[in-house]
Amino acid sequence: MQSGRPIVLVVEDEESITTPLAEALERDGLEPHVASTAAEALELARRLRPDLVLLDVMLPDASGFDVCRELRRESEVPIIMLTARGEEADRIVGLELGADDYIVKPFSAREVTARIRAVLRRARRTAGAGAEESPITIGDVRIDPAARTVTRAGESLELSRKEFDLLHLLMRNAGSVLRRERLIEEVWETRWFGSTKTLDVHVASLRKKLRDDPSASRYLHTARGVGFRFAAPADLERAG
Ligand code: CA
Repeated sequence: MQSGRPIVLVVEDEESITTPLAEALERDGLEPHVASTAAEALELARRLRPDLVLLDVMLPDASGFDVCRELRRESEVPIIMLTARGEEADRIVGLELGADDYIVKPFSAREVTARIRAVLRRARRTAGAGAEESPITIGDVRIDPAARTVTRAGESLELSRKEFDLLHLLMRNAGSVLRRERLIEEVWETRWFGSTKTLDVHVASLRKKLRDDPSASRYLHTARGVGFRFAAPADLERAG
C-alpha cells in the first residue's frame, strides 16, 4: 500500500546531501527513498514507481545520464538532475536525455522542494501522471486501466494487450502528438531500428475497432512522419 504521499527517489551517493535533503522532503509531505548507486536507482525505480526522481550526475558506478536514459526507456517519470556549478554542458545533456529540470549544487532544501512541487504539478497537467490508473473518458470512448476494459458508446471493445497499451498511452496524452519512437519504446518496450510496420498495423486495427474513419478521423489522428495524437476533449466539442 502506498501512503498517498508522492514518492521521490533521491539518487545521490553523498550522505552529507541526502540525509538533510530526505529530512526536508519528509517534512514537506513527500516520501523520500535514497539510492546511492546507479544500479540501486534503477532497481528502486522499478520497484517503487516513484512520482519523481532527483538524479545526481556523479555516481560511483555510472553517470546519472546513463540512469536518466535508462529511466526514460521505461517510463515518463519526472526527472530533476542535480548538476555541479559551472557544468553548463551537463544541464543541456540532461535535458536532451529527457530530464524535466535541473538544479545546480549547492542548493537549499527549500529550493529543491519548491522545484519538486512545480515539476509534479506540471507532470500531472501534461501527462496525467498519478492518474494513470483512473479511467479516462474522451467523447464516447472510455478506457479503464485497472479493469483493462475499453468501451465506445457503452459497447465494450475487444483489444489485444498491445492495442490496449497503445490506446491508453495515447488517451493519457490526449491532445499531444506522440512520436512513433516513443510509442514503440513504451508499448513494445524496445528500441526499434527496423520497420515500424507493427505500430501502423496496431493503429489501423485500433481505428477499425473504434470505428474511426482514417480519412476523417474523430479520435486517432496521424501526424504524418511524426506520430499519432488522440483527440483532446476540446477537439471533439469543436467538431460537434
Ligand atoms: Ca554524487
